[in-house]
This record gives sequence, C-alpha cells and structure tokens, in this order.
Amino acid sequence: MLGVLGGGQLGRMWAHAAQNLGYQTAVLDPDPHSPAGLVSHLHLCADFLDPQALAQMAQQCAAITTEFENVPAQALAQLAQTRFVSPAAAAVAVAQDRAQEKAHFTHCGVPVAPHAVLASAADVSAVAGDLLPGILKTARLGYDGKGQARVANRAELLAAWQAMQSTGLAMKSGDQALGANAARATSPNMDEPHPAQAIASTQGQATPSATVCVLEKMLPLAAECSVVLARGQDGHMVHLPVQANLHRKGILAVTEVGDGALDTALATQALAAARDVAQGLDYVGVLCVEFFVLAPDAPGGKPSLVVNEIAPRPHNSGHHSIDSSDVSQFDLQVRCMAGLPLVPPRAHSAAVMLNLLGDLWWPGSVPAGAPDQQGKKTHPPTEPAREPDWAAVLAMPGVHLHLYGKTQPRAGRKMGHLTCTAPTLVQARDVARQAAQSLGLAPW
Ligand code: ADP
Ligand code: MG
Repeated sequence: MLGVLGGGQLGRMWAHAAQNLGYQTAVLDPDPHSPAGLVSHLHLCADFLDPQALAQMAQQCAAITTEFENVPAQALAQLAQTRFVSPAAAAVAVAQDRAQEKAHFTHCGVPVAPHAVLASAADVSAVAGDLLPGILKTARLGYDGKGQARVANRAELLAAWQAMQSTGLAMKSGDQALGANAARATSPNMDEPHPAQAIASTQGQATPSATVCVLEKMLPLAAECSVVLARGQDGHMVHLPVQANLHRKGILAVTEVGDGALDTALATQALAAARDVAQGLDYVGVLCVEFFVLAPDAPGGKPSLVVNEIAPRPHNSGHHSIDSSDVSQFDLQVRCMAGLPLVPPRAHSAAVMLNLLGDLWWPGSVPAGAPDQQGKKTHPPTEPAREPDWAAVLAMPGVHLHLYGKTQPRAGRKMGHLTCTAPTLVQARDVARQAAQSLGLAPW
C-alpha cells in the first residue's frame, strides 16, 4: 500500500495512477468527503498530526507522499522515521516559505524577482523605492493569489502590511506552536480549508507574532510557464515538456503544451533552471517549478525568465500529462515513491488544459450570489447552481473530462479540468476554444 497526506484532487489522480500499477492507496485527510479518500482503499479521516493516524499510515504503507505543501513538516518527519517519504520534510519546508524559497533560488544561481523579506514594521519602512509598485505576499500559506496585495506606493504597502498583520490569515509565526486545529491552512490544489499547522521551521528574525511577508517588484509579464520534473533517489531526472500557463485572478486558467507553446530557447533555460533547483534541494519526487517570462528590455532584445515558486508535488499545470503523455506526472510520483524506473515521458499529443472552476455552475452572470471559498454567501444567489453541459464538450474529439467528485460547487473552487489533445497545438487550441465557448469559459 502507498499513502498520501491530503485528500484533494491531486491525491485522487495520484491514487488512480498508483492503482493502475496494482497498489492499494491510503489517504490521510480530515474531510470525510475528500476526493482522494473517496477512491482509496483506506481513508484515515483524521487531523494531519493525529498520532494514531500517522502510526497507522506508517504501519500500512510502504512509502508516503504529500499532495499539498502546507502539510505539517512534523507529520512528514515522523513518518520518515520508519518509512520512505518523498518529498523530504526539509524540501517541503523550503516550498512552504516564500522567503526560504527565494533564498534557495538565489543560492542555485537562478534569477528571481527583485524582492525584500518584511519581518517587522522597521523592514517595511526601510523598503527600497524601486520595489514599488509591487506585490506584497505572505511568506506562508498563500495560494491561488490569496494572501497577496498589489501595492502602488509606500502608503498602500504600509496599509497592506498592517492588514496582513491584523487578519493574519492564520499565518502568524506564533501559530506554529498551536494545536492541530488552530491554524487553518489551505491547499492550492484541494482549495479546501485544512487543519494543517504552520510549520516549525524558520520565520527568520520575525518580531513575535509578525506575519512575515515578501514584497516583490511588479514585473511586466509576457507569459508564464512551468516545468514538472521527477528526480529519483539516484539523482536521475526526467521531465514533462515545458508548459505555458495563463492565470486569471491568480488562479491557473489555461495550460498549453506542444510545439509553439513557448520559445525554444526559453524552454531550454527553464528546464536547466528547474533541474538546478531540484538538484540544489537534493529533491526526490515530483517537483513543479513556475517561471515568469519577462518581455525584452529593449526592442529587438530577448525575453528572459525569472523563477516564481516551486510546488513539491504534481501541479495543476501538469494535469494534461494524463492525456497527452505516455507517463503522467502522477505515474512519475508513484514511480518515485516505489523506487521504480523513471523513464522520460513521451508526449504523444499537443494539449490545452482548461480548469473548471465552480463559477461554471452559474452560467452567465454569476458567481454573484454563489458561495465563496469559505462557503459564505456574498449576497443572495440569483439562480440555483446548474451542472454544466458535459455531453456537449464530450461530443468533441480529443476532449478528456476530469471531474474531482466534489459535490458542492463554489466560486473559485477547482471542480475539474478538461484536456483537449490533438496532433498539433493549433488543432488542440481550436478544440479547446470550442469547448470553452460551449461551457461559457472566457476566451484567451
Ligand atoms: P500563488 O502562490 O498564489 O500561486 P504567485 O506568487 O504564483 O502566488 O502569484 C499568482 C500570480 O500573480 C502569478 O501567477 C502571476 O500571474 C501574478 N504575479 C505574482 N507575482 C508577480 C510579480 N512579481 N509580477 C507580476 N505578476 C505577478
Ligand atoms: Mg503560483
């Protein structure tokens, strides 16, 4: 049996891949309706730090992974005492903290956005003027654009910093010592609140109870891209093709992969940088590295890359691989855990992946009255939720629909995705655009 901490859609797709190779799967997740729990042999419905659940996981699973980075590091460390855990708690700890993450990128010689770590009011006052306009991000627990504020000037920076201190988003460094249900963290992929503790790793020189933030200079993005790679215990690495990503409101909306998705020289740079980042962490498992593509400084110049962040797991931008490749990112995760050979995935199709958010259940006007991510209604619903017309898109050749088994649609909630495959990217885009139009998704 193989095990996963976290029961969201990433855990569910991982479980499917593990079961294809004949493994039974175990999921630890407090949500009784978690998408991965629903399809696994064993669902330990308990907190991530529940000693009995962790002991049972260790007893029954030959190897254990995580499907979200905000899993308590203690849980991974405890399991690692007796079982193979991939990725290692130390690598996950880096991914949990934007400040550590950026320090690691710099250490690897990979360019990052100009930034400053703000751990106290004094740090805020001392910010260099050339970081503005910028984006203030909580160092921990942000996801899908949450825990971020765009700031044009010092006054806005100060106001945003103070707001993050008072709301805290359950991110105060003091929360590290709280009980298992005290700090609510949310997985970028499960988009469900999870009673994950903040991790007992560094908060640098944070003043007591400060919510440490990172201020990043606002960069003119020409595009965004990502690399999903897998690194085995022997250091051998394989990867999916570089993916071009479009975000809307901080949430991934579209991923394109195939010839023409991205400039070849940039793709080569991204791959080299992703490998350096994985190597530098001595990483074992599946890792996603996200990049910003910057427009050339001058006419006739070349676009350049900066690394944005890493995810220590399969990533939304790699979902296409289930349908476009002979080895998916979830197959790779299973192979890493089980010590099975890592063969280079071969893409047999170009692909366009469209995320299906809960907003689609209120076609036309809505998410107006739709419940938000916390289930709170912003104002009364104008119409009831309505299941999208899946049959209409399934009638299109090359369309692969994946629904995650979530019964409650909510605005911004990842309910599923759709991958359109075709021999060329132009053709895949054509199908994807028809599918998007049929579902009422915005064109791109
Ligand atoms: P999250 O952890 O929520 O994914 P990101 O740091 O990736 O946070 O930010 C979400 C999105 O916001 C990015 O994909 C990008 O579109 C935009 N963004 C983030 N940082 C910057 C920046 N420094 N300059 C311009 N756009 C940015
Ligand atoms: Mg991101």
